Amino acid sequence: MSRAILFSFKKNNFKFFISKKNFSSTSEASVTFVGLGNMGLPMAQNLIKTGAKVSGFDFNQSNVDTLIKSGGTRYDTFQSAIENSEILITMLPNANAVKNVWDDAAKYAKKNSVFIDSSTISPIDAQNLAKANESNGYICADAPVSGGVMGATKATLSFMIGTKKDNFELIKKILTPMGKNFFYCGENSSGQIAKICNNLCLGITMAGLSESLALGVKLGIDSKVLSEIMGVSSGRCWSLDTYNPIPNVMENVPSSRNYENGFSMELMTKDINIALECAKKIELDLELSNKTQEHYEKIKEKGFKNKDFSFVYQYILNNKKI
Ligand code: NAD
Repeated sequence: MSRAILFSFKKNNFKFFISKKNFSSTSEASVTFVGLGNMGLPMAQNLIKTGAKVSGFDFNQSNVDTLIKSGGTRYDTFQSAIENSEILITMLPNANAVKNVWDDAAKYAKKNSVFIDSSTISPIDAQNLAKANESNGYICADAPVSGGVMGATKATLSFMIGTKKDNFELIKKILTPMGKNFFYCGENSSGQIAKICNNLCLGITMAGLSESLALGVKLGIDSKVLSEIMGVSSGRCWSLDTYNPIPNVMENVPSSRNYENGFSMELMTKDINIALECAKKIELDLELSNKTQEHYEKIKEKGFKNKDFSFVYQYILNNKKI
């Protein structure tokens, strides 16, 4: 292996160690985690729980303070955190934010550092980021996730990993404290392709399910009874049995907490837009996706961009008068 820095992992915990080529000594490797929002904060906390040394950054200082209280390392500047770490993980709202952070990190990072982006961004942006940074000597991967805030909290996320095949085991080991399933999707950007296909399907199924549930509720059936029946019938889907959009049918889902702290309308429309842009580039007509996106965009226009995307149920139930 031609890398100057090799990563190894202590058995039975996930502390990361680096050993310099031709040197027998090892030292603990650290992680800089940028984007401590609904997803990033619990992910970074799970890294810390398994022994990793993690410093966190976010525009929202209270999230940074929460990470420090959970055992995170404090650095006064992003530069000093990057200079003292070997792994960068980003969990940010969009590609511009990821590019800004990666560009900044590339000024200070040690050669052979690992840059992993777990945000959902366009496969095209992911490929450009990897190209630019691999040529600067960094090991890059797109590793978007599914499983939502619940999965981030319980460390049961599924990671869809796009990277050079030789890097996969290393990336998987770094991500192991935060997830349960790790898929090798192919070269850089393939993780993002898998992710947007999944989320496009999720956006459509949630809207479709909401039409069906709203019909049932309006016709007078009890929402829990209807959900239970559909949950063991052919209408069963993740949106129904894990993320039910009707308040108080399930505990611990956004619909039962006024559609707060989940996967926002803003993020869902971003993901469907990415999918639609990719489809346009290859001239694939996705009619149902376009129609679904119209729903979510209208809800956003009405001032609900921060609500969880399952709020589409309320939009449909109330005949679009919300
Ligand atoms: P969020 O809005 O809760 O968190 C994003 C955080 O990034 C915010 O705290 C914000 O202050 C911070 N931020 C933005 N730009 C920054 C910058 N330049 N430097 C430092 N901090 C910055 O979003 P989220 O729900 O945590 O989602 C993050 C990413 O994960 C998105 O790309 C989203 O599509 C993806 N995702 C979210 C979910 C979910 O259920 N929420 C599930 C899977 C994937």
